[in-house]
Amino acid sequence: MSRYTYLLDPGHGGIIDGVYQTSGKRSPEWDDREFPDGSPYVLYEGVNNRDVVNRILNALSALNISTKDIVDSESDIGLTERSNRANELHKESPCVLISIHSNAYGSGWTSPTGIDIFIYNGSVSEATKNMQTVFCDKVKAAMNGMTEWRGAKAENFAILRQSNCSSILIEGGFHSNKDEVKLMLTEEWKEPFVQSIVDAIQYVEENGLGGTPTEAVDEADPTSFTIPARGYFKNGDRGPEVKQIQEALDARGCWTYHTFTEYYGDVTEAAVKEYQSSAGLTVDGLVGTATLSALGLI
Ligand SMILES: [Zn+2]
Repeated sequence: MSRYTYLLDPGHGGIIDGVYQTSGKRSPEWDDREFPDGSPYVLYEGVNNRDVVNRILNALSALNISTKDIVDSESDIGLTERSNRANELHKESPCVLISIHSNAYGSGWTSPTGIDIFIYNGSVSEATKNMQTVFCDKVKAAMNGMTEWRGAKAENFAILRQSNCSSILIEGGFHSNKDEVKLMLTEEWKEPFVQSIVDAIQYVEENGLGGTPTEAVDEADPTSFTIPARGYFKNGDRGPEVKQIQEALDARGCWTYHTFTEYYGDVTEAAVKEYQSSAGLTVDGLVGTATLSALGLI
C-alpha cells in the first residue's frame, strides 16, 4: 500500500466533439506543422496536460503507486470542484496533489521560456515545502540544457489555496514561445519531463515528506481571495485582491506599470482588457469569475 495517494490534475479542459473546452489556454496557431485536415496547428494546453498526466499515471501504475486523476474526463471542471475532490480523497487517506500546466506570456508569440514549480503563497506545512524542493531538484536536473529553470515559486493559485493536502503546480514550459512549444511536443522533452516527475513521486513515496502532508490553511487565511458582492472587480476598486490581480496580469505579460498599487484604475483596466483579449474572454475590463478563473485566482 502506498504511503500517499498521488492526485494528478490536468489543469484545464480537453476535447469534446472536436471542441476544446477551455477559452484561451492554447498556443497561437502555427502553419509549419498541420493537423491531418490541413488546418494550422495549435497546442491546447489542457490536451497536452492530459498527455503528461496520462504518461505519469501509466508509469506510477507500473510501480504500484496509488494515483488518481481528479478530473478523469474531457470536461473543464472548476478549480473549486477540483479542490473539493482532492479534499474528499484526502479525508480517506493521505494524499498529495500535483497540478500540471504550461505557461503563457502576453499576446501572440513571445520570448519567455522555462519551467517553474509553485506552492501556495499563504500558510503551508513543512511537508509542502519539502515536496516542492524534491520536485524542483528532479525536474531542474532532468530539463537542464533544454529550457530555462525559473525556480521554486509561491503564488495564490486557487487549486493550491483550496486543497488541504500538500499541493504543487508545475508550469512545464511556455506554449506562447514558438520554439519551446514545438520542443514540448517531442519525446526529447516529454520523456525526461515526465520521468523527472515520476522520480520525484517515487522519492516522496520512499522517504515521505516529514509530518502530515496537510496544509495549515483555514477559511480565515488572510491571503484567501474575496470577490465584491456585485460579483466582479471594476475600475475604482481598491484592496489586496486588486494587487493580486495585477500580479497575475504581470505574470502573463499584460502589466505595464512599474509597481503594483492595490488600486484598480485605468492602467489596470487596460491590462485586464489586454489579458481578456489574449485569453479569448469577453473584453469588458471587468474582472469577474471567468477572468479570475483564467488567472487561476478562483
Ligand atoms: Zn494552465
